Amino acid sequence: MSQAIFSVEFFPPKTAEGVDKLKQARQQLAQIKPAYFSVTFGAAGSTQAGTRDTVLEIQQEGYHAAPHLSCIGRTRDDLRAIINEYKAHGIRHIIALRGDLPSGFGGTFGELHYASDLIAFIREETGDWFHIEAAAYPEMHPQAKSPQDDLQNFVRKVKAGANAGITQYFYNPDAYFRFVDDAARLGADVPVFPGIMPITNFSQLARFSDMCGAEVPRWIRLKLASFGDDTKSIRAFGLDVVSQMCDRLLAGGAPGLHFYSLNQAAPTLAIWERLSPAVRA
Ligand code: FAD
Repeated sequence: MSQAIFSVEFFPPKTAEGVDKLKQARQQLAQIKPAYFSVTFGAAGSTQAGTRDTVLEIQQEGYHAAPHLSCIGRTRDDLRAIINEYKAHGIRHIIALRGDLPSGFGGTFGELHYASDLIAFIREETGDWFHIEAAAYPEMHPQAKSPQDDLQNFVRKVKAGANAGITQYFYNPDAYFRFVDDAARLGADVPVFPGIMPITNFSQLARFSDMCGAEVPRWIRLKLASFGDDTKSIRAFGLDVVSQMCDRLLAGGAPGLHFYSLNQAAPTLAIWERLSPAVRA
């Protein structure tokens, strides 16, 4: 088994306390030797300054930093200014997305409609400067017409210039393996990193999963629900399930893991510590 590539996703903190906590989380997570830390872009750019400030802080600490960027609700000029600012700071890695509109958003859909348009735009503007990653949905994006359509969309993003994919989180490794095989057969033979969501809180997980179309399998849901408020048991069971899934993904050929940390170091570290020593070397 070859060495796995790990990456960790954060959201931009809103308070000074959150900024300090995230800094501590990064120091703890540095031991997993992440290839990069990524920072999300709030719905329709609602965290634009926070994303940039967090990315630049990470870069100043000597880590690789990758901003997320979404095109929904934005003009080409806005997007050009953002990518040029990152380029001027020597950032070379972007997670390029369509994004979602925040509820009650009064603006327009923007000039670029899909992530594939944004990826093509970044390539037109900056050539090969950025390593671009695109979102992948082994269990289908909730707005897609069909799984085949959504798979074609991932292929479109690779053909537009994405170098790799990061998946929405899932708890069904077979969906991931099938997606990767199907995408490769259609010509999108790029590394696809499974997005890993640690399980620490059942009601929050159920809410997120309903929104983003990720399935929590019935046996996992029932077991988690049966623990009620017993957080210790939820976390212990969640750690077993997720770390076993990660081992299976890596043994089956996944190139690495992208952790949705929710700005917490401990759940990601606990999973990483359970992985086979060969992949952590
Ligand atoms: P797209 O690839 O554009 O797809 C959107 C929908 O349109 C899909 O249903 C697709 O099948 C369909 N589609 C695409 N192209 C076409 C076409 N030509 N014709 C018809 N239909 C088409 N959101 C944020 O706001 N900020 C973030 O930082 C963020 N980070 C994320 C990171 C990862 C790893 C992932 C997996 C998701 C992230 N998201 C983020 C959520 C993402 O923005 C939403 O899932 C959004 O609804 C879709 O974005 P996309 O880039 O996948 O869109």
